[in-house]
Amino acid sequence: MSDLKPVNERVGFIGAGQMAIALAKGFLQSGLIQAKQLHASDPNDGNRGKFAEATGGVVQADNRTLIQNVDIIILAVKPQYMPDVLTELKSEINTGQLVISIAAGVSIHAFEKSLGTDQRIIRVMPNTPCQIGAGASGFARGGAATPEDAELTRRMLETVGIAFEVPEIQLDAITGLSGSGPAYVYQIIEALSDGGVLVGLPRNTATKLAAQTLYGAARMVLETGQHPGQLKDAVTSPAGTTITGLAELEEGQLRATLINAVRAATERSRELS
Ligand code: NAD
Repeated sequence: MSDLKPVNERVGFIGAGQMAIALAKGFLQSGLIQAKQLHASDPNDGNRGKFAEATGGVVQADNRTLIQNVDIIILAVKPQYMPDVLTELKSEINTGQLVISIAAGVSIHAFEKSLGTDQRIIRVMPNTPCQIGAGASGFARGGAATPEDAELTRRMLETVGIAFEVPEIQLDAITGLSGSGPAYVYQIIEALSDGGVLVGLPRNTATKLAAQTLYGAARMVLETGQHPGQLKDAVTSPAGTTITGLAELEEGQLRATLINAVRAATERSRELS
């Protein structure tokens, strides 16, 4: 996690939906900004209300008014609305403002085409666990964005998880791994739970044990810094239960299947952007 030194910039979300609320809560709870520095605009009354209630930030319906009151603009609308938002705002946004987009699949080139190549732009690929502070994000810098902009973005994203700066070309790979990854893991949890039920456990117990096992193993990887193979070897005794289960996973090509899933999702992300 980054240091928690507060920043002075005023932050404005265009689109006050789920991701905006998740990020805003992270910024506030970490002490990175205060509610008075937080703004959001959204045409949807209900979503504006939810944002204001969850964060205490200033909300408004009009995107243009928001632009006039902030230093960092976070574009948090669905990708299909981005062309309209850019058309509406391109003459309002100035080069003193940092523009951060979290919209999946909208390239830095598309923003630069609208806003100009001298606009400081950062493109982020977050994932859904940002909503509970356990996100994994990648982000890339446009040509005019500075190392300081990247550092600020990293600090913002680290309030809701971990974040890595990558060249933009790698954002498709991040989409295929951590963007789509939560769904792969939900399937793994569901299948482990099914296995538990098959061998006699109640469903609720089996699902909780499966999820906690993934959580515990993930924390072991992150917190010990050991290679996953080393951790696997450490719990695998000769002729024991674990190696017997692992042999079945190899037979079912679990590892090859997961590798192929990441590759296929990455290719699909490339096709869509
Ligand atoms: P959401 O639907 O919850 O929020 C989008 C908000 O934008 C809504 O409140 C909507 O009313 C508002 N909006 C629509 N048109 C607007 C306009 N012209 N001006 C201002 N606001 C407008 O969506 P979300 O899940 O928060 O996703 C937001 C972005 O984050 C998307 O681009 C998505 O690709 C990206 N993203 C989300 C996740 C996730 O975990 N939810 C993960 C990765 C990327």
